[in-house]
Amino acid sequence: MQSLWNETEAAEYAGDLNQRVYTSRLLGRDKSLVMHGGGNTSVKITQSDLFGREQHILYVKGSGWDLETIQPQGFSPCKMDVLLDLATLPELSDIQMANELRVSMIDASAPSPSVEAILHALIPHKYVDHTHADAIIAITNTPDGRRRIEELYGERMVIIPYIMPGFKLARLCAEEFARQAHDGTQGMILLKHGIFTFGETAKEAYERMIALVDEAEQYLERHHAWRVEYPQVAPPDEPQRQVLAAFRRELSDAAGFAVIMASHTDEQALSFARRADLKQIALQGPLTPDHVIRTKRLPLVGRDVAAYEESYRAYFEANQHRSATPLTMLDPAPRIVLDPDWGLLTIGKTAKEAAIAEDIYRHTIAVISRARAMQNYEALPAEDIFDVEYWDLEQAKLRAGGKAPAFTGEIALVTGAASGIGKACVESLLARGAAVVGLDINPAIETLFKRPDYLGITVDLTDEAQIAAAFETAVKRYGGLDMLVLNAGIFPGGTPIAKLGLADWDKVLRINLDSNLVLMREAHPL
Ligand SMILES: [Zn+2]
Repeated sequence: MQSLWNETEAAEYAGDLNQRVYTSRLLGRDKSLVMHGGGNTSVKITQSDLFGREQHILYVKGSGWDLETIQPQGFSPCKMDVLLDLATLPELSDIQMANELRVSMIDASAPSPSVEAILHALIPHKYVDHTHADAIIAITNTPDGRRRIEELYGERMVIIPYIMPGFKLARLCAEEFARQAHDGTQGMILLKHGIFTFGETAKEAYERMIALVDEAEQYLERHHAWRVEYPQVAPPDEPQRQVLAAFRRELSDAAGFAVIMASHTDEQALSFARRADLKQIALQGPLTPDHVIRTKRLPLVGRDVAAYEESYRAYFEANQHRSATPLTMLDPAPRIVLDPDWGLLTIGKTAKEAAIAEDIYRHTIAVISRARAMQNYEALPAEDIFDVEYWDLEQAKLRAGGKAPAFTGEIALVTGAASGIGKACVESLLARGAAVVGLDINPAIETLFKRPDYLGITVDLTDEAQIAAAFETAVKRYGGLDMLVLNAGIFPGGTPIAKLGLADWDKVLRINLDSNLVLMREAHPL
């Protein structure tokens, strides 16, 4: 792992908070460190209030912000003395903590502080960085994780056993930090969760993160567990769109809402789905607990959706007593499916959610493969994952999007979509939440929109094989088809009947009439 620190770039970020912004973005740029809202960072700054009084403020990542794109206003400014007082309480519920964190801020319009704010406050260093680095997880998520971390880092790291994020974790870290830390301490490992580093400058904290994670990568390399080979395997030749679309309908029924389902049959996806030991390694649990809201605890291995639903219900029944307040079960549909023919299917309410699940699961495949190459992959027990899945503060992340638009989860296909009415239909359907496939003979269709819920395909509608291939591609991208907009048509200029040849007549009928029959025939089973 390489440091991305660049002196010229860094010089453009003047002041403590801007330096915090700069290295947070550097961390966010590396997906093997943090993904999709994971990880958090902070800086402690002394400043004056309106009356000229000195205040100590912790600027900690606000919820809803991604490290890669964070701005200064993405940090929540909390009063240090309030956070340190909170840390002395014997107990603090999540709801109370969320409230206390909000009222500890000096800017009423700032985002809610990260649930790790108290933990950041308790670490006695100016800059604190926290990631869920793949290499660290690959080592800690093995049966022998703790011993391996000790072997790798010696006395340089404070080691914390797994405990759910929030107030209890902050308290435990404070106690263990006081007990284990010394002048040579460089960071803190949270088993089966991630790593913290710190320093007096943004650069020091960041470069320690990179150096320590690099050591973990080299450790894996020494154990022949860093480079993962995915053998070449071929997907089935025959079209899959009808079975895939039927499977998506089953998933939507299980979820209780329409879902988007993306298929991935590249080498990584297919070779993992075909591993002989797949059930043993893939049915352990996620890499870190916060992935559960994107991937659920377990993937579905194979195609039995009903059995998955049943086991999800059993998991909920077995664990719901863990919550002090009554819980409502979330939908029991899988978000990840592994099948020897289909490879990896990633599922979400929207194309974006399905893409996030894909990102997370690709890292999961890599980390599981590494842990397995070294020894064995071992995730947290189901109850720990349940606590995070049903933790109100995690569910709030999913609710943050507000009310979903009317066509969320549905898939539309529009012909003649590169311009005019067709293009307007695409825009309107996208605005209402649908994933949209645009067809046109004009190749500009392919780059009409650059977003996960749009797919443009160049097609000559007079060619049946091209239409069939476009449907196959569309179903592999989104899982099926719910709406068909037959918009393509040609209107040649007026011709006196005495001069109208059969070729021109044929062409008009082929596009304006015949192609619609083919489109409806192909769309109907999906
Ligand atoms: Zn974390």
